[in-house]
This record gives sequence, structure tokens and C-alpha cells, in this order.
Amino acid sequence: MTDPAIETCDVLVIGGGGSGLAAAIEAADNGAKVILIEKNAELGGTTAWSIGSFTATNTPQQLARGIKDSPDEHFEDMIKFSGPQADRDNPILRRLFVDNAEDTLRWLMALGVEFFGPMPEPPHRKPRMHNVLPNSRAYIRQLGLRADKIGVSIRQSTKARRFMLDGDRVTGAACITDNGEEQEFQANVVVLASGDYAASPELKARFISPEVALVDAMNPTATGDGHEMAFPLGAHVLNGDVLSGPTLRFVPPPRESLERLLPPSRLLGKIMRLSLQYLPDRLLRPFVLGFTTTSMAPELSLFAKGAVLVNKLGQRITGAPATLGLSIASEPDKIGYVIMDNTLAETFSAWPNFIATAPGVSYAYFDDFRRTRSDLFHRAGTLAELAEKLSMDPKTLQDAVQDHGGDQSTTLATPPFYALGPAKSYVVLTDGGLAVNEQLQVLGDGDRPIAGLYACGSVGQGGLMLKGHGHHIGWAFTSGRIAGRHAAAESARESALR
Ligand SMILES: Cc1cc2nc3c(=O)[nH]c(=O)nc-3n(C[C@H](O)[C@H](O)[C@H](O)COP(=O)(O)OP(=O)(O)OC[C@H]3O[C@@H](n4cnc5c(N)ncnc54)[C@H](O)[C@@H]3O)c2cc1C
Repeated sequence: MTDPAIETCDVLVIGGGGSGLAAAIEAADNGAKVILIEKNAELGGTTAWSIGSFTATNTPQQLARGIKDSPDEHFEDMIKFSGPQADRDNPILRRLFVDNAEDTLRWLMALGVEFFGPMPEPPHRKPRMHNVLPNSRAYIRQLGLRADKIGVSIRQSTKARRFMLDGDRVTGAACITDNGEEQEFQANVVVLASGDYAASPELKARFISPEVALVDAMNPTATGDGHEMAFPLGAHVLNGDVLSGPTLRFVPPPRESLERLLPPSRLLGKIMRLSLQYLPDRLLRPFVLGFTTTSMAPELSLFAKGAVLVNKLGQRITGAPATLGLSIASEPDKIGYVIMDNTLAETFSAWPNFIATAPGVSYAYFDDFRRTRSDLFHRAGTLAELAEKLSMDPKTLQDAVQDHGGDQSTTLATPPFYALGPAKSYVVLTDGGLAVNEQLQVLGDGDRPIAGLYACGSVGQGGLMLKGHGHHIGWAFTSGRIAGRHAAAESARESALR
């Protein structure tokens, strides 16, 4: 009789975000019996937190607009986003990505995911960014439905803790469920799809810095579990210090924004795609702004043009605009407010002075925050009144605004005065992935593949530089599919040997 705590499958996928779902579906479509485990109660991971842009060439959307583009041009343009870090890239994985991104986008569309675009994003020479509709949960919804339909067994609230081994070969994972039950899954092959370590103070301290280790992550459950599980097998991280953030972001609204509340159904996605194609901008703007004002970063140009960042006590947080994200993490409650006067508010009411952007999707100006984020918007006739509204000492705020430190071109002197906030500092994502080869096998000592172990998405990023929008999501789904396919093939070979 089989021990009830042990189950077997061909391919075990660890992680139910974008890359894990893609791997599970592809493995099952290639004949494998697949179990997918997800530690959270819901599928989704960082993928469901994302805006959801997907960058690719030769897509139906590009072709419909007569845009002539190619993976070769994408390959050349992609690395331009990395600036001085360009030589840190893994060109083999970049090639793998650009060559397979189109097929992945079409595959997602065939599964019912709707996109609008392509939108321009220089230095891409052509518009290549496709945005998912109605929001990134549509990926999880459509892929979840598909996985279910083809017999992938999905186990939520089940956390992988360590690999099971037969000699050097990975043969499954030992897990624990939310109600404390231990569970072992034996498999011919394991695919790690466990995301990044943006929320792991230990891994951030180890690979980035002790200061960044203090900064919260947008996704608090991205704790790098898969990285930690793989280290004892000789796996190692490439580009561990590369990350997005710490950035200042306005805190999310107390209630979900309209755009996030929309059910991620195929029908709604389709209606929205048609609306975006045919409705005038004036009608679409309120919806599209939902993307931008929900949790977006205040533009650094705000501070360069005179806005002052203060902590919750009203004390000025000093430093070059680019360093403010890191500085705020050591302030009380890690929060701050952006202080502006009327002159600055007027400046940031029209192009090219926007307060926040979801690049290529929309730009939010001063009035957009007034209308859509009343929770962040504070106005008063004098600085003293503003201080009172924010429970700050009036003199402290007054001093903060007058103490310009000589680095600003304007002074805040014209009433009324405004505060936007709270803003917090967040690590958006970390880019350090395990070293992998072109088949997405995890590499161990001597860069030899660890038998039976694949990785995809963030944990399988293998030194690939993904700066620019739409490359992380693109890589998650593209690498997930490739890993799933190889895992199914290896599992079939393993079964044949027995
Ligand atoms: C706010 C925000 C906006 C973004 N917007 C974009 C964008 O528009 N375009 C873009 O390209 N990228 C974007 N990104 C980045 C992108 O979302 C991620 O890089 C990508 O989704 C990672 O996918 P993944 O499958 O590797 O990880 P995830 O989606 O995080 O999935 C990993 C899953 O594994 C699970 N897991 C972890 N450990 C275990 C364990 N021990 N046992 C079981 N399960 C486990 C996690 O709970 C999670 O569900 C954004 C990120 C953020 C935070």
C-alpha cells in the first residue's frame, strides 16, 4: 500500500506563478503526469502583481499594424536597456528568449489571454510592448483553467522545503501544507518555478547589501525558497546584485482599484481590447489611469524640480532623487510624503511633466491623483495647516521645506500646499537567478547539470538581463514552456529506463 503522505508523478512543478503554470501545461501537453505545488492559498505569485506587459516581435498585433520587426532586432535592442550592466548579460538565454517570445505570446492568446498594443518603449526601435487585459490576473486565470482541463493536479497551500535525492539525482520534494501535514512528491523530474528573492532579507543582504535587505518587497511572499533549496546541490546565483528598486511607490489604495477588481475573464478582455481599439482616449483615460495611479512610483523629476520628500514626522529626507527610495526605508514606518506648492502642482499638470507613469500605458498628472487617489491627496492653504492634517509638527515641516540644501531650482512658496502620500520604498524584483543551460537544466558544481532539476522564470533567470518592460513576464512564460517541454522529454526517457 502507498503511504498516503507520498505521491508520485512524472513532473513536479514548484510554484504556481506565470512560469510554473506555463511549465506545467507544456509538460502535461507533452504527455507527462504533472503535479504543481503552490505555497500560497492562491495561484499567481509576482505574475499576478505585475502590470503584465509582454514584449515580443512578429506578433499578430505588430503584423496587423504593418510593423516589420524581427527577433534579431529585438536581440540587439534588448541589451540597450542594461546600460553599464550590458556585459553582465547571458546572450545564449537572450537569444532563446527573443526567438521564442512570439510563439509564447500566440500560445497565450490561444489560451484566451487578450492583449492590446504594441506600444513603443525606446530604445526599442519598434513598438513591441503588449499589455494584458483586463489585468495580469488574466494570465493566471486562463492558464489555471487550461492546466485544470488537461489534468495538471494543482495543490495550493503546499510549500516545498527541500529536494529528495537518489544519489545526485533530484527525485522530488518534501513539502508541508498550511495545516502542518508533511507531504512528499516523488517525480522523475522537478521544475523549479518559485520566483525571486525580493522579500528575503537574508538573500538580499547576501547578494545586494544590508541596506537593501531592510527594504520591503512589493510581493511579500517572494522569499527565494527555490534558490535556497538548490544551493546545497551546488547551484549558484548569477547577477545576484541586479534588482529593480528600491523605488518610491505610493502605497496601494485602501480598496482595490477598478482595474484590479475587474474579473480577469476572456470575454471582458476581448471587450476591452475592442474598446481600446475603437473608443476615443477621453473615454478610456479613467480606466487606463487605474494602472498608473494604483501603486506607481513618483517620477524623480518631481524632486529635481523642487518637490520635497519628508518623513511621517515632517523631517526632510535628503539625497539625490535616485537615492530617496533607499533612504526612506530607514525612516519611521518606512513612509514619506511628497510636498509641493501650487506652482509645482501646475507644472506637473501637463506633458511632459507627469507625476507617475506606467510606461507606454498611461501618464498620470497632478489632477489625476486628485481625482483617482483621494486617499493620497492632501491640500491646505498654509504649510502649518498641511502639517496639522498629516499629524506633523508645523515648524518641522516648515523647516524641511525651507531647507533646500541648495540642490533645487525652485522654492515652495505659493499656496495652496499639497502633500501626496504616503509613499513607501519597495524592492520590485530581484534578477539573480540560478545558473541554467539552454535546456534550462540547473547547473551545479563545475557547471554540470544537476540531474532531474530544471528552473524557469525568475529562479531560472541564469544571468539574463531583463531590463525594459515586458521582458520579465516574457521570460517567465517563455522559459516555463521550454523547461516544461524538456522536463516531459526527460521524464519519458527516465520512465523508459525503468
Ligand atoms: C509591481 C510589479 C509589476 C511588474 N510588472 C511587470 C510587467 O508589466 N512586465 C514584466 O515583464 N514584468 C513585470 N514584473 C515582473 C514579473 O511580474 C516577474 O518577473 C514574473 O512574473 C516572475 O514570474 P515567476 O513565475 O518567475 O514568479 P512568480 O510569478 O512569483 O511565481 C512564483 C510562485 O512560486 C511560489 N513559490 C515560491 N516558493 C515556493 C515553495 N517553497 N513552494 C511552493 N511554491 C512556492 C510563489 O508563491 C509564487 O506563486 C512586475 C513585477 C512587479 C512586482
